[in-house]
Amino acid sequence: MLKFEVIPVTHFAQNCSLIWCDETQRAALVDPGGEPERLMRRVAELGLTLDKVILTHGHLDHVGAADTLRRELGAQIEGPHLEDAFWLEMLAQQSQMFGFEHTEAFTPNRWLAQGDRIEVGNQSLEVYFCPGHTPGHVVLLSRSLQVAWVGDVLFAGSIGRTDFPRGDHATLIRSITDTLLPLGDDIVFIPGHGPSSTFGRERVSNPYLTQPIW
Ligand SMILES: [Zn+2]
Ligand SMILES: [Zn+2]
Repeated sequence: MLKFEVIPVTHFAQNCSLIWCDETQRAALVDPGGEPERLMRRVAELGLTLDKVILTHGHLDHVGAADTLRRELGAQIEGPHLEDAFWLEMLAQQSQMFGFEHTEAFTPNRWLAQGDRIEVGNQSLEVYFCPGHTPGHVVLLSRSLQVAWVGDVLFAGSIGRTDFPRGDHATLIRSITDTLLPLGDDIVFIPGHGPSSTFGRERVSNPYLTQPIW
């Protein structure tokens, strides 16, 4: 079975998730935005082996600890989609922009694309390409848990910003309505920031999805 816990990191309270297979104790961290020591402590406390760092998109508050975790624990970095390469190349500028400690550019071990699968022990995650907030944003789904990690695509009652370079509002709305919502009303999603919700609840109540576009 797949298990997970959410660990908010950095002063943006970015939702990092530790997920693991309870048969093999192999684990992955989704969007480790910072505080690598704290994350490594938790991995050790639970007796897990960190195989992977999975990134939904290239923004610093989601990737800040990734390269340190790769170096310290030998984990592989998977994601985001290649279209977000420019964000990872700009990490040094991003650390100034967001007021973070200096972070060097890095390249993941694997870029992700629509339809890919990510193995975590005996479990697996499905990958969905959901551009708009950034051009290379991906979403992860655990079919068995009916849980999705959506990064900054969708929030409880809101959606991701599209005022960054190569962000696009219409593309973001299409990613949500054409790719995420059809996955099912009952799916619980963990957003990059703030409380979780379900696709069904957002479909009927999220003002960005329910207002007609005139
Ligand atoms: Zn973001
Ligand atoms: Zn974010």
